Amino acid sequence: MAYIEPAPIKDKENPFESMMSRFHIAAQTLGLDDEIYNVLKSPAKQVLVSLPITMDDGSIQVFEGYRVIHSNILGPSKGGIRYDMGVNLDEVKALAAWMTWKCAVVDIPYGGAKGGIRCNPRQMSAGEIERLTRAFTSALIEIFGPDRDIPAPDMGTGPREMAWLMDQYSRSYGRTENAVVTGKPLVLGGSLGRQEATGRGVMVSALAAMEKLKINPYRATCAVQGFGNVGSFAALLLEERGLKVVAISDLSGAYYNPKGIQIHEAIEYRNKNNGSLEGMEGAEKIGGDELLELDVDLLIPAAKEDVITIQNAERIKARLIVEGANGPTSARADNIINDKGIMVAPDILANAGGVTVSYFEWVQNRLGYKWTGERVNRRSDRIMKEAFDNVYRTSIEYKVSMRIAAYIVAIDKVAKTYKFRGGF
Ligand code: GLU
Repeated sequence: MAYIEPAPIKDKENPFESMMSRFHIAAQTLGLDDEIYNVLKSPAKQVLVSLPITMDDGSIQVFEGYRVIHSNILGPSKGGIRYDMGVNLDEVKALAAWMTWKCAVVDIPYGGAKGGIRCNPRQMSAGEIERLTRAFTSALIEIFGPDRDIPAPDMGTGPREMAWLMDQYSRSYGRTENAVVTGKPLVLGGSLGRQEATGRGVMVSALAAMEKLKINPYRATCAVQGFGNVGSFAALLLEERGLKVVAISDLSGAYYNPKGIQIHEAIEYRNKNNGSLEGMEGAEKIGGDELLELDVDLLIPAAKEDVITIQNAERIKARLIVEGANGPTSARADNIINDKGIMVAPDILANAGGVTVSYFEWVQNRLGYKWTGERVNRRSDRIMKEAFDNVYRTSIEYKVSMRIAAYIVAIDKVAKTYKFRGGF
């Protein structure tokens, strides 16, 4: 009998493998039954659609769209839609599973899902993006639904796309159904506080972690990789709480000033400059990798997966990493980071502020009632802080990293719920 050769060690980890390897460690630590292990590791549904779109020049281009529902054990599945050239099934599967764990960590009644279209929205006109969004919604009309599967923004999408999705869905059913999607513009039933929610949750997690590490925010420095919706709000809110943000970056490069970058000015500059930091003054331009390796107290990767890997983990000098992005640290870098004594507030905990306020948006839509921004922030801050404390306690109880502790909290919750619900 021939042995099946183990998969070769790749330089670049696949996000689904990264997710599974943490899931595996947490499941073993928790002593999860084999049966439940198998239930939780397999996505419930994977949908792949081809979307032929008439481009502005009259040509027809076919785009690939995905929606993976990882789990609906805790409730209707929830998760964003990503428009990016890197979108592929393995990535969407990992992101969908992370949504399941994320919703469970913050204890909101949702399962996990994720969607994506392989496209480059930066090179498409608004009309092309609108047709693509409507075609995607129409192809998934049986999948989406306020009690079934509720999309939201992710990389490359925002309130504009969510408005088209909501409109297309509502037209198909002949009634306005704003609870089918979250992250909508305010006038369409969006929630106050949703836009900044993920960055705000990153700030709450960072302050909670700094308290444990006895880092004084007024003496702390911070580097933020990624200056989109998550990174820019996290940087702004941390600056307001006394931190000195010494470096920020986006696709145009990284910008460093040891005296501190004025974040509101950087945001203003970016907004006027077509969404890019290119040409920003008052900071030295450095390499993107250099930013990750700066000697700062707090590092916030807020862009995409696999930026802290075995290639650079050894050189990371921050005392604390708070993950604004999903999956920014590869599983094989975990041990290096842990051995260096760096605390990590992991993605499924630290960036859960976005989905938490998505949940509030959905609740408000179903109530037909609008909360004040103050109520939204107060409630989401409380949820984030309680989730942090719960994960911290679990990490001490099981003597594991904060990341594995977050998976333990999540898997335990979903497994217990599954046992009550039962199956076929
Ligand atoms: N895309 C965001 C995330 O990864 C938000 C998802 C949501 O609000 O449903 O957490």
